[in-house]
Amino acid sequence: MKRTLASETVKQLGEKVSLSGFVGGRRDHGKIVFLDLRDRSGVVQLVIAKDLIDVRNEDVIEATGVVQKRPEAMINPKLATGTIEVALESMTLLSKSRELPLPIDTDGYEINEEVRLKYRYLDLRRPRLQKNIKLRSALVDRIRQFLFSKDFTEIETPLLTKSTPEGSRDFLVPSRMQPGKFYALPQSPQQYKQLLMAAGFERYFQIARCLRDEDLRADRGFEHTQVDIEMSFVEREDVMALDEEMITTVVESLGYKIKEKPFPVFTYEESMKRFGADKFDLRMDEDKKKGILAFAWVVDFPFFEKTDQPADGSKEGWTFTHNPFSMPKKEHKEWLLSKKNIDKILTTQYDLVCNGYEVGGGSIRGHEPEILHAVFSVMGYEDKKIEEQFGHMLQAFRYGVPPHGGLAHGIERLLMTLTGEPYLREVVAFPMTSGGQTSIMDAPSFVADEQLAELGIQTFSESHSSSLYEKIITLLESAKVSYEQTEHERVVTSEDAARVRNAPLSEGAKALIFYEDESPVMLVIAADLKVDTKLVKSLHGIKNLRMATPVEVKKVSGVDIGAVPPFGNLFRIPVYMDEGLRRNDMIVFNAGLHTKSVRMKERDYESLVKPVVELFSKNVNPE
Ligand code: ASP
Repeated sequence: MKRTLASETVKQLGEKVSLSGFVGGRRDHGKIVFLDLRDRSGVVQLVIAKDLIDVRNEDVIEATGVVQKRPEAMINPKLATGTIEVALESMTLLSKSRELPLPIDTDGYEINEEVRLKYRYLDLRRPRLQKNIKLRSALVDRIRQFLFSKDFTEIETPLLTKSTPEGSRDFLVPSRMQPGKFYALPQSPQQYKQLLMAAGFERYFQIARCLRDEDLRADRGFEHTQVDIEMSFVEREDVMALDEEMITTVVESLGYKIKEKPFPVFTYEESMKRFGADKFDLRMDEDKKKGILAFAWVVDFPFFEKTDQPADGSKEGWTFTHNPFSMPKKEHKEWLLSKKNIDKILTTQYDLVCNGYEVGGGSIRGHEPEILHAVFSVMGYEDKKIEEQFGHMLQAFRYGVPPHGGLAHGIERLLMTLTGEPYLREVVAFPMTSGGQTSIMDAPSFVADEQLAELGIQTFSESHSSSLYEKIITLLESAKVSYEQTEHERVVTSEDAARVRNAPLSEGAKALIFYEDESPVMLVIAADLKVDTKLVKSLHGIKNLRMATPVEVKKVSGVDIGAVPPFGNLFRIPVYMDEGLRRNDMIVFNAGLHTKSVRMKERDYESLVKPVVELFSKNVNPE
């Protein structure tokens, strides 16, 4: 039977329908049970004789029944299908649900962020988020429709690219084919969209992902999506007018009201004087209640501002306020070219503000090579560096480039103003936690050493010791091995370690690093025993052994002597274990840190690390 959506049932009174969806709620009334069936279109009530069913909330079902009028007293005016119900005839359980780890029938603000994001696929079932995510889709759809109607071409630009100075830290991606070199993820498609103007497309747009490694805030994430626009043969007012028409058309078509049209325009100076900031909220309390949108433009920003970290490494210099690719205002072009009155040079930048947020911004670009060069020169870049980093732009501008300008809107910020949501995560399907952890999947995460080796990467950062510790714990966890971890005062010798751990010295697993010619190997021995060099020399396949220096130990393991764990496999070196370690059931060792020890079964250790087990100790008591 063809599937009917919940919302369509109202038009099918008296007909037999087949519905599919989640069980959204269950109300037992004696012999009769009411179930809410929820699908993408909404909710419809099913009426069932009690003995017919055994389902609970969030089970996924297929239900067949006849649409009937509800008794007068049972009509629910709040529900689109509130006048009808479906008298169930048969039902198939498609998927069973366990009890949910979080409620989904509330607005969810009260639930801990980590729990919500861990189970984001459940969290997203809540009506508020369904609405937000669908609004996001509709917003992007209307924007596309508008731009296509104005003869724009949608063009994708690369994600693996070269760093663009948008004022943030880059996310870097190591190159496997050219070890030691890196791609940068784009902070915005700025340079490519300008190159598309050089290519003659004239009207470009893209729904573009932008990545910036900045500290996270309520309204700022590592990734965001922009409506990114660029146009040729335009002046500042042309771009602003097109954009204003787009924003007005789109948000009004979605049912929103705009406070003032055309959008008021403030100079930067005026806005600082009036509002003490370059983003502000023009709504009265009454407007806020009605969900009205108060847009305004801000123009005439200073091009440069002072910085104590200029590109030339000196103590004081200049940096851009908005976008280094911008054109200064006509009357200030000469100042820029002759590097005069830097503090007074104004840029063609325009920012769009709405309800206190900056929801967009852009500029007319400096399409003359001399202008672009002068901007970077003011900022302390030497000619060589300019050529190195932006030579491709200067070059492109030397083959005829239409004057151009554009702008970009952050989709999430726009949505936050539309919905009144205070956090970015409420308008993004799979956001990160405020600590930068991804939803559901645990990223960032450690990767296999093989992957790092393939990329020519060794991680010897300050945090290596604690990441090594994490690695060991992760390894033990994923192997489902039981272990105890203890935190204690800083210890370096095995004797001190045994004392603070309150464990026999013989349980201590001492990891020693030796060199066999150029190759490091690890010898693991019980802390109460000594390495017998003669025996070591006769070890299976090993000759010319010498002990590693402290610097070499650090180089190989990334940690200092006294903290090296017996997991040589984690630094990809062969591991030899002395038989003497088998005298105890348990072993204990410093796990990469002088202040943390892990105690586990000797047997588990062997099965995880798979050392070559031989006898190379003195004073072994075989028992
Ligand atoms: N690239 C700018 C930004 O991401 C927007 C623009 O000037 O078009 O903020």
